[in-house]
Amino acid sequence: GFKMGIVGLPNVGKSTLFNALTKTAAAQAANFPFCTIEPNVGEVNVPDARLDTLAEIAGSKAILPARMTFVDIAGLVKGASKGEGLGNQFLANIREVDAIAHVLRCFEDGDVTHVEGRVDPVADADTIETELMLADLESIEKRRANLVRKLKGNDKEAQQQDRLLAAAQEALESGKPARVVEVDEEDAKAWKMLQLLTTKPVLYVCNVSEEEAASGNAHSEAVAKMAAAEGNSHVIISAKIEEEISQLDDEEAEMFLGEMGLEEAGLDRLIRAGYELLHLETYFTVGPKEARAWTIKQGTAAPQAAGVIHGDFEKGFIRAETIAFDDFVACKGEQGAKEAGKMRAEGKAYVVKDGDVLHFLFNT
Ligand code: GDP
Repeated sequence: GFKMGIVGLPNVGKSTLFNALTKTAAAQAANFPFCTIEPNVGEVNVPDARLDTLAEIAGSKAILPARMTFVDIAGLVKGASKGEGLGNQFLANIREVDAIAHVLRCFEDGDVTHVEGRVDPVADADTIETELMLADLESIEKRRANLVRKLKGNDKEAQQQDRLLAAAQEALESGKPARVVEVDEEDAKAWKMLQLLTTKPVLYVCNVSEEEAASGNAHSEAVAKMAAAEGNSHVIISAKIEEEISQLDDEEAEMFLGEMGLEEAGLDRLIRAGYELLHLETYFTVGPKEARAWTIKQGTAAPQAAGVIHGDFEKGFIRAETIAFDDFVACKGEQGAKEAGKMRAEGKAYVVKDGDVLHFLFNT
């Protein structure tokens, strides 16, 4: 599954947001740095109205949305790369995530201590990025030292790694994150395998006050500019509102959102923004038993998409019976789509499209 790591300085609202995300009160938010010591892991449903539509048409008994994992990575502070705060363990946790949700304090509240004594989300983002850059530099130096022997042996893989590490090192030493390095197609895989922290896509989460949830504020505007310049993205959220919503039922939540001038819960926007940032898409499997959403990377071919369900589906892949979402709806289901000639048999080379309703045929 896909994993997002929630990072940010202490007291910016990470726990509040994470709790709302997972609807658990377990990791109690408290006005105290280092409140959440263990990295907390939570799984959330990916909201997708299309799945409900499909289930209704097919009369599916169960609805199984796609899932996304969030990891609350607390304790990242200035000096973390040198083992301060909760130090290096956190950096290891970040290494494992697909993207970083960086929560930035954009709310003013004299009662909530800011670690630097002022509200400045762009400076905060810089503080965290600097730590990640220092951590990358340190790990690059170690890794390059370890490669020396293999390089003498003319190991091709080692040469590629070293060349990529050197490029990252050069960027980092000139004060830039590793994501600025331009990587060729043939190096893309090896580059990703390096798992450098500053190559992870970042979604800045502007935590604004309840009153500013709909409009944003000057702080969130500054973050938006920074994100755009970096090729990252941002969302505006009020963690407090999300916390309140997470305790309401759907109908109450909708009313509450209306009162706040919001169309959609911030968490839904957050999850969707994560999808976009990671270039993820959804396909569906639909039957009387269940309607289910599956997550793939954009550009995934049918056998690999089948492999998300089960490795055997990929190995024994024969073909995928495919109905586009709109056709499925217009023809009122699989039978209708079949009769209208809207069900296609697609082979190994087929690139799955977002919203496809698929049925895989495979050898066992
Ligand atoms: P963390 O250290 O980043 O996990 O921060 P927490 O989620 O524990 O929040 C720290 C404090 O800030 C708590 O007292 C929260 O209630 C408060 N807080 C979080 N979000 C907001 C917000 O949007 N507005 C205000 N006024 N307080 C908030």
